[in-house]
Amino acid sequence: MLDVRNISHWYGERQVLDDVSFTVTSGHLTGFVGANGAGKTTTMRSILGLIRPTRGEVLLDGHAITDTDRARFGYMPEERGLYPKMKVREQVIYFARLHGVATAAATKRADELIERVGLSERANENVEALSLGNQQRAQICVALVHDPEFLILDEPFSGLDPIAVDVVLGVLQEQAARGVPVLFSSHQLDVVERLSDELVIISNGQIRASGSRQALQEQHSHGLFRIQLEDEAWLLQEPDVAEVSREGRDLIFRIDGEDTDARSQQLLQQAIARGPVRTFNHELVKLSTIFKEVR
Ligand code: ATP
Repeated sequence: MLDVRNISHWYGERQVLDDVSFTVTSGHLTGFVGANGAGKTTTMRSILGLIRPTRGEVLLDGHAITDTDRARFGYMPEERGLYPKMKVREQVIYFARLHGVATAAATKRADELIERVGLSERANENVEALSLGNQQRAQICVALVHDPEFLILDEPFSGLDPIAVDVVLGVLQEQAARGVPVLFSSHQLDVVERLSDELVIISNGQIRASGSRQALQEQHSHGLFRIQLEDEAWLLQEPDVAEVSREGRDLIFRIDGEDTDARSQQLLQQAIARGPVRTFNHELVKLSTIFKEVR
């Protein structure tokens, strides 16, 4: 487990991280979400030892993280870091060798990864000849080629088409399933909503919320339900019911009060007595709503 503890950082006079704390556990994809400039890259660079935060510490499995620990990390930097004039396969092997992997093993692993991300046909082309999305696939191979024990990826999904998002996601999920903790940053809430099990939300250098995506969504969805009825006028006249929004023929409504689950069942009974109920469920708010609420 990685434990980011009370990190604050100033660039000159300007404070960009303010007491940032969160944990990254194994077996999960942890999405690190925030607007441009919120402090995601600075936090990741602090974890990786690329900058030394003004205050705070990073612990790995309970001890202060060392450079030896960090050598077992895989990192995909935001500014990317491939040599444009080097061939994809050569480059992936080269980075494995830099991490001390023997040539035969490096070659085998590079070929497996290149195949896995769908780049086999481009393996002998220079990186600069690839589209940005394909360069990103190559960058994922570089981050993974030494079989890292921890993965930190800065905006791995930005600029990818939906097929490439699925490929990269599949690779990251495999890593998480093997027990590798994965921390990835993103400013695309829809992507994070779909991909991550755990969330850390940062705004203006401060952590605003963290925890399981499901739990965060549930916390922010108290009393929220979705229903589809022929006639809903009666429902909206109930004193504790208010319309929130509509999606197609579904009505999303909020129940005020304490035991909203019990009350929702009463309303459902009433609805059934009046006619067909096509949809009824507890509604989870979208991440974008939570993001606006905590910002
Ligand atoms: P983005 O999604 O745009 O990359 P981010 O959440 O990763 O944003 P950071 O790159 O960590 O944010 O930047 C946090 C703040 O620190 C920003 O206001 C940025 O302008 C500032 N900043 C980053 N690097 C430096 C630096 N080397 N010197 C001064 N200020 C910096």
